Amino acid sequence: MPKVYENVGCPYCGCSCDDVRVTVSDDGKKVLEVENVCAIGTEIFKHGSSEHRHRLPRLRQPDGSMKEISYEEAIEWTAQHLYKAKKPLMYGFGSTNCEGQAAAARVMESAGGCLDNCATICHGPSFLAIFDNGYPTCTLGEVKNRADVIVYWGSNPAHAHPRHMSRYSIFPRGFFTGKGQKKRTVVVIDPRYTDTANVADIHVRVKQGHDYELFDAFRMVMHGHGDDLPDVVADVPKEQILQVAEIMANARFGTVFYGMGLTHSDGRNHNIDIAISLMRDLNKVAKWTIMAMRGHYNIAGPGVVWSWTFGFPYCLDLTKKNYAHMNPGETSSVDMAMRDETDMFINIGTDAGAHFPIPAVQHLKKHPWVTIDPSVCMASEISDLHIPVCICGVDTGGIVYRMDNVPIQFRQVLDPQGLLTDEELLNKIADRVDELNAQGA
Ligand code: SF4
Repeated sequence: MPKVYENVGCPYCGCSCDDVRVTVSDDGKKVLEVENVCAIGTEIFKHGSSEHRHRLPRLRQPDGSMKEISYEEAIEWTAQHLYKAKKPLMYGFGSTNCEGQAAAARVMESAGGCLDNCATICHGPSFLAIFDNGYPTCTLGEVKNRADVIVYWGSNPAHAHPRHMSRYSIFPRGFFTGKGQKKRTVVVIDPRYTDTANVADIHVRVKQGHDYELFDAFRMVMHGHGDDLPDVVADVPKEQILQVAEIMANARFGTVFYGMGLTHSDGRNHNIDIAISLMRDLNKVAKWTIMAMRGHYNIAGPGVVWSWTFGFPYCLDLTKKNYAHMNPGETSSVDMAMRDETDMFINIGTDAGAHFPIPAVQHLKKHPWVTIDPSVCMASEISDLHIPVCICGVDTGGIVYRMDNVPIQFRQVLDPQGLLTDEELLNKIADRVDELNAQGA
């Protein structure tokens, strides 16, 4: 009899939807049906039972081909290279569970290397702003139950977080929001008329790269200087700025969801810190919160796990062994790669081959490169060693942190068929590095 799993978590975007229903074949090896999930999430579950998945590590041979080896050989190869490396870098972690992230911390503490996660190329600027200016945020449940004004600023959930609007922000009927979308005002601030802008009440077409000026203009209005605004700020007419400012000031509960439009454009962390300052202004007259649209389903996880382990969320330099050090710009993955400062790279739960700048990849490629990932991806195909592992939420469970830092227990639905989890693999590597350290001491 096929087995039906309820309340399954989707291991793709920061919505971390936990209402998925998955039907699995009676031998536990094939996903037959997936419900309550968007198109992206559906693909993840289907991919879980793909016949094309690798189930053994592959090591590059002198002729350039990849040859299957055992897990034991892969663990030995990785531990030996980590032991020899002076400044290895382990990077990724958006797509693994907190148990794997904790085991990775153990590996790099033993190896004396650097540990970084995808925030470094994503919401890292948000961390910098939060260090400077705080984080007046809330949970997605509070948005669902209370929010009557929603602002998506530089984010496009219709494409990047497909169920965000229906589960949390615009369409659901909550405790104090019984009329759902009808009683919510939705503002989208984006240079493009996106599919998210298409469902908004107001689209503010800001000039690309000029968000800071627009925040400044809103702050001027909140401080009583609206009359002094020029006729147009960042391509936005003064009348529209005053209109949106009035909606914000009259909100019962408002939330700004922001994304790469702010963290990847001119100003970066300063776009976020002025957004947080605007929240402070607004909270004098209304109730406002702000939330980063975190990308992967557990990219909030390493920030939490490593903060309680080392005191820092990302860009960790553990080479001093007894002291953790963090200084983005100095200890961030792309910066270190561009300066050719690392001598080994471990890509885990991400695809640096696809998403790092090509010059950074070219530098990293000069040294041993290991990819730990369930799938064939660009990183796995340029690696010296590819170690396949379980997909969190499909072949294994675990804790993940949603974009609002709410922890969720993900479930296993498929038989892992001999694959190790990230946690199991990394703990075996850490054990072996510890042995080598003890022998060398
Ligand atoms: S919105 Fe995100 S977490 Fe939810 S089903 Fe789609 S990809 Fe998965």
